[in-house]
Amino acid sequence: MKTNPAVDSAKLSLLLNELRLPAIQVMWPQFAEQADKEGWPAARFLAAITEHELAERDRRRIERHLAEARLLPGKTLETFEFEAVPMISKAQVMAITAGDTWLEKGANLLLFGPPGGGKSHLASAIGLALIETGWRVMFTRTTDLVQKLQVARRELGLEAAINRLDRFHLLILDDLAYVTKDQAETSVLFELISARYERRSMLITANQPFGEWGRVFPDPAMTLAAVDRLVHHATIFELNVESYRRREAIERKRGPGRPPSYATPANVAS
Ligand code: ADP
Ligand code: MG
Repeated sequence: MKTNPAVDSAKLSLLLNELRLPAIQVMWPQFAEQADKEGWPAARFLAAITEHELAERDRRRIERHLAEARLLPGKTLETFEFEAVPMISKAQVMAITAGDTWLEKGANLLLFGPPGGGKSHLASAIGLALIETGWRVMFTRTTDLVQKLQVARRELGLEAAINRLDRFHLLILDDLAYVTKDQAETSVLFELISARYERRSMLITANQPFGEWGRVFPDPAMTLAAVDRLVHHATIFELNVESYRRREAIERKRGPGRPPSYATPANVAS
């Protein structure tokens, strides 16, 4: 039987759809035209369209990861002024955004400092940079997540809910210390911390380093155990600066042309 040399493009489209190759499905006529015109060998054409499909797949995956991460909009490392937090090394933060040295062993990152110091901004920006390098991240206010886990516990699905969070290499819990007394009583946060210990990383922000955490867990022994697990493999950043919002407001009042009143190592120490 003689086969028809002309390609049935409608059928090809169906086949590519069946194979789940949407980028090739859209782009092959353009690639084919160029290949015909420039006399590409068949292998080169095949390589070009498969590379295109893979690149599109990566792009879509990162897009999905960004959507599921619920990061704070507009908070990036580019818009974060490291000069405002002289105790934080930009080089160290940049090394952290590569991810592999700490996320692979489930190490943690703890950001402490007074309100307005830039904890949430820095946390979200680190999350964004990690997603761009291929990691999966979720950002949540701690109280929101605790609430969801409490619901799961009531429905006897706490373990499953915690397991589902395993898909995130990094879980960002913003404002741990805002967990309320009644939320603390059910210890879901402790279960989460225990489950992720040495397996999956967490980034936790809090106004108070450990001092106030007694309210977050049901009893002192559990507080101690939680802190112990969190700090065992952890990098701690203390953003002990005056509120960025307040400094901005003061500078606006002062008008242009004056030197910025950022915290310096000297006045932070005093
Ligand atoms: P925190 O979470 O510590 O209370 P935020 O991260 O919410 O503080 O910061 C308060 C506001 O100030 C945000 O709008 C944030 O983008 C901005 N901000 C704080 N620190 C910096 C900084 N170093 N560079 C740029 N913007 C900052
Ligand atoms: Mg915050």
